[in-house]
Amino acid sequence: MAIGSGKLYIIGIGPGHPEMMTVAAQKAISESRYIVGNNTYLDQIRPLLSGKEIITSSMGKEIARARDALGLASGGDVVTIISGGDAGIYGMAGIVLEIAEKEAADIEIAVIPGVTAASAAASILGSPITGDFAGVSLSDLLTPWEDIEKRLSGATAADFVIVLYNPKSRNRNTNFRKCVEIVRRNRSGSVPVGLVKDAYRDGQSAIVTTLDDVLDFDDFVDMHTTIIIGNSESRIWGDRIITPRGYHRKYRY
Ligand code: SAH
Repeated sequence: MAIGSGKLYIIGIGPGHPEMMTVAAQKAISESRYIVGNNTYLDQIRPLLSGKEIITSSMGKEIARARDALGLASGGDVVTIISGGDAGIYGMAGIVLEIAEKEAADIEIAVIPGVTAASAAASILGSPITGDFAGVSLSDLLTPWEDIEKRLSGATAADFVIVLYNPKSRNRNTNFRKCVEIVRRNRSGSVPVGLVKDAYRDGQSAIVTTLDDVLDFDDFVDMHTTIIIGNSESRIWGDRIITPRGYHRKYRY
């Protein structure tokens, strides 16, 4: 790859609403000549894109997009490549850095964090995470299903709050059901579960239920849903979930 003076920003745009995007991510866009991303995410930030050159491709074309962005930056331009949520959590940061490493790219690369689906969904549910948690993607496109099962079992046994990303897609309709069965083996059925669809987007909706009843909402769950399974201390308060941090063990309040 040619030596250039360009710069590549890898940004997360947050869950969807412009107010949920960091100022640093907005600055990266305004500094850039080229914006690279897929159409779903570009649509969420349209007002920020006027005057920008847009390079777009569909979902599943991440490697091509990463190469495009690196190529433009290596040519001397300032470029932003965008992910939903946080770019470092099931986002573009990993693949872009992998390719940059392989090609020994000689450009400045800055990863700008974003509000990930876990914290977006958690904020709508109250405070269901609070302490230690494990994020698990149920997509077996890039991770073997056996590994996903192993991680789910381990996280359940260790009493982590579990945040599920990619619970379903057109071709993976049963992964969520299988996941609930695995978690249920080692976690009480009364444990709270929160489902948040389209957090901070039009049509946002949330459900608070329990592990025993969550499969009643199987049809609600889709590829725009994040699910938070509480731990043994989590409880439901009205339409919220609270996981105590542990202050009650030390203080009276
Ligand atoms: N990089 C993204 C995650 C990409 S994986 C991030 O940090 O948030 C895509 C999955 O994220 C979706 O299947 C869904 O589980 C979750 N997700 C992303 N945006 C969401 C939103 N606005 N509301 C609910 N879930 C969301």
